[in-house]
Parts: sequence; C-alpha cells; structure tokens
Amino acid sequence: MAIDQGTTSTRAIIFDHRGTIVSTGQLEHEQIFPRAGWVEHDPMEIWRNVRKVVADAEASAEIGARDLAAVGITNQRETTVVWDRTTGEPVYNAIVWQDTRTQKIVEELGGDAGPDRYKDRVGLPLASYFSGPKVKWILDNVDGARERAERGDLLMGNTDAWLVWNMTGGVDGGVHVTDVTNASRTMLMNLETLDWNEEICADMGIPLSMLPQIRSSSEVYGKGRTRGFLKDVPIAGILGDQQAAMFGQACFEKGMGKNTYGTGSFVLMNVGTEVVHSQNGLLSTVCYKIGDQDAVYALEGSIAVTGSLVQWLRDNLGIISSAPQVESLAASVEDNGGAYFVPAFSGLFAPYWRPDARGALVGLTRYVNKGHIARAALEATAYQSREVVEAMNADAGVDITELKVDGGMTANELLMQFQADQLGVPVIRPQVTETTALGAAYAAGIAVGFWSGTEEVTANWAEDKRWEPQVDDAERGRLFRNWQKAVTKTFDWVD
Ligand code: ADP
Repeated sequence: MAIDQGTTSTRAIIFDHRGTIVSTGQLEHEQIFPRAGWVEHDPMEIWRNVRKVVADAEASAEIGARDLAAVGITNQRETTVVWDRTTGEPVYNAIVWQDTRTQKIVEELGGDAGPDRYKDRVGLPLASYFSGPKVKWILDNVDGARERAERGDLLMGNTDAWLVWNMTGGVDGGVHVTDVTNASRTMLMNLETLDWNEEICADMGIPLSMLPQIRSSSEVYGKGRTRGFLKDVPIAGILGDQQAAMFGQACFEKGMGKNTYGTGSFVLMNVGTEVVHSQNGLLSTVCYKIGDQDAVYALEGSIAVTGSLVQWLRDNLGIISSAPQVESLAASVEDNGGAYFVPAFSGLFAPYWRPDARGALVGLTRYVNKGHIARAALEATAYQSREVVEAMNADAGVDITELKVDGGMTANELLMQFQADQLGVPVIRPQVTETTALGAAYAAGIAVGFWSGTEEVTANWAEDKRWEPQVDDAERGRLFRNWQKAVTKTFDWVD
C-alpha cells in the first residue's frame, strides 16, 4: 500500500505484484488561506483523512492489514508541521509549500550574500518554498514555541515525518524519521553528506533536537502501532512526491526524466550518484536512496502553479464546475485569442525564482471570452514546463528526446497535445498514472523483498499513450515568445 499525502488530497492505494491498482481511497482536505500569500493545512485533519482512506482502500479490496506486505509513504514536500512530542498536538497549522510568508526571513538570511548563500551546501536557493524558514517563522511567531523547542519538546517534519510518528505510536514512542528526499527540501541538509547542517540550523535558530533522523527512502522504519490501523505492517518506504514519481516512472538511469502535473508541475532528471549544480535556475536534490546503496541525485525544475490554476478557475472565477471541464471549455475556441495567463500566485519558481512576481492575464481584447481564458490557463502549464525542460537541456548539454508524464492533469488530452507541440518531442503517459503512489509502494516493497529491485519496476512500466508534436517551429516559437513577454509583466509587484 502507498499513502500519498498530496497538496489537495490524501490517497491510499493498494497495488499488486505487477504494479497495477487493486483499490483506492481518497479524501480532499481543506485549503486554508488566512491572508494573501498564506496557505495552510490542518495536520490533524490530514492524520484523520489518512486513517479514513486506508480503511476505505482496505474495505474496497476486501482485505485487512495482515494482507499487506508493507506500506510506503509519499508526500507533499516542504510543507512543514511543528508538533509537541509530549501531547501530539501541532503548535500551528502546517505551512504549505506554496506559502510566501517567509519572504522577509529568506531575504534577511540571504543578507549581502544573496539568495545563493547556502546553495553549494544544500543545492537550493533561499526561497519561501523550503521548510527551514517555515520552521523559523513558527518559532518566531507562535507564543512560547521557541522556549518549548529549546526544551526539546517540539518536533518538526514534512507530512511524511508527521504521519510516520503518529503511525508508530505518537506520544507512546513514535519514531521520528524522514528520508533523504524530504530532508533535501528543508535547506538544512548537506547534499553531499546527507547530514543536517548545524551551521545553517543555527542561522535559522532551529534546535537540532527538533529534526527527524535522516534515513534512506527504502528500509523498514518501524511498524504500525495504532490499533485497527495498519497494525504490525512494516512502514518501509518514504519518498517526496516528485521523487516518488521518478521511482514509479522507472527513471533509474542517468538522463531519464519525467514531468508530474498536479497542483504544481515538477520536471526531474536523474543525474546519477554525483550532485550536479545547475547554471540555469534548477534545483539540485536527492532523487532516492535505496537502503545502504549510494544516493542518486536529480536536477529539478519546480513550477508552483499549474493544476491549481484550474482549481482557481473553478473556485475563484466559477467558469467551470469541475477540473476536467476546463478541457471542453478550452476546446470551445480554436486558440488562445491572444490571451496569456501567467499564474505567478506564489511568485515564480524555476527557472526565474522571482518572489516579487504576481499573476497576470495579458493580451486581452473585447474578443476574449472564457474559452480563451481556459485555454490560456492550460497553455500556461505547457509553457512553464517548456521553460524548465529547456533549462534542463542546457544544464545537461543534450536535449531530451521524449518526456514521460503523470499526475492529475495528464487526463487532459488537449493539454498533452499542446505540451508535445511546445516541446517538439513526444509526450508519453504510462498505463498507471498514479506514479507517485506507485513509486512509494515500490520503495516499500523493495525494502521487504516483495519486489527484488528496480529491474522489476522497470519491467512493470508500460506505455498507455503518446502525443507527437504536430505544429511547425514557426508557430511554436511565436506562441512561446509571446508567453515570455507576458512573464516579464509579472515582475516587481511586491516590494
Ligand atoms: P496533487 O497530487 O498535487 O494533489 P493531482 O495529481 O491529484 O495533484 O492533480 C490534481 C490537480 O490536477 C488539480 O489541481 C486539478 O485542478 C488538476 N486537474 C485534474 N483533472 C484535470 C483535467 N482534466 N484537466 C486539467 N486539470 C486537471
């Protein structure tokens, strides 16, 4: 079983030995927006939802915990929970990865050295995206939190650590661990040595006692200890969601990559067992580590807003009533009508890293209707993905020849065709598009011997559909140049 604790929802998915889905449970959780730029989740709601979706998946497969070989966890990365080890209560809501409240903290930390102050050590530029500054914000702003942290009462983690601690007993001896991939998103871990960096923790005022132990992505961390909930099942895999998708897409060789289209979109490329530092605005991160084997690294292009723009059309504009409807609305017009929508709601991530950017819808005329806006929203996903793929090509020194894709938005055929057109290379969707959950299941299954290793994962991977580019270079170029002009309109909106 995989527990996929995502940004919009939590899923439990049971897989069989061939890697096909047996059953699923899924629940959305509340997105809390207390102020412009702030995004929170309730960690208790997430923990309740996990228990519910696991029960649902077990019930619909008519199996119980004893039938499960192992459970793996994959999660929204960077999203930060701080809780009290003596009461089990979070001291604040989870601060979500898209949240921009730590912008000032990040600028102060950068000081004269600027945003790349820690980049050599952690692979990341200083940005509100990552966990470390979020912990600092909680310690600085929640009454009494810093004293409790210094007393050793508070723990931190991404949602993986929060769940494992609860599943393995919580206040009664819960195991406080995370994996290398989640740790690589905190800004607190040395990318080379895979240890917490004490100097950076000190700069951020984060006591080491708060931090989980860093483990590999595939090993037994503990067993379920909650009565009636995965009792005695080995918890044997943890991977951040994007790294889990790499695993589920069988990207085990240097040069292999994928794009996952969910709330945001994330292009990753396996770069092998040595860290590669980007010259083009990409992140260096851990891809996975299996047991005591060497860690494998990745380059990553993170895009903050893609699928969540579709949610915004649904929830904030009300021009569609469900996410899939965006496709028929976009198909009601022939092209974007000249409209370009740059969804810089959380600033712009890769390759720009512009926290001062805010969204813009440009190129409007009296002609533009909601169909064009829907199309512009979908096109934005494809243009942003093209930008990070081109950055990756430049870093790698070779061009990708095809792109494996997965995630909720890959159900959208109009988008997939447009993506192939924009990239000029085929876009390939696998039969199992729940690659994030699948990757976590594989990591856990390999740790307990249910699968022999990554070769079996590769053998299970199968193509469902491929989209070939259909437009000429002139048209690709014209649209993309307009997009890049639109991007420049979003800069300098925040002082
Ligand atoms: P996450 O794991 O980040 O929660 P998912 O992979 O579940 O994301 O994808 C959900 C996202 O995909 C939502 O933001 C939703 O708006 C978007 N989405 C779902 N179906 C479609 C569709 N048919 N067309 C476009 N976007 C879609």
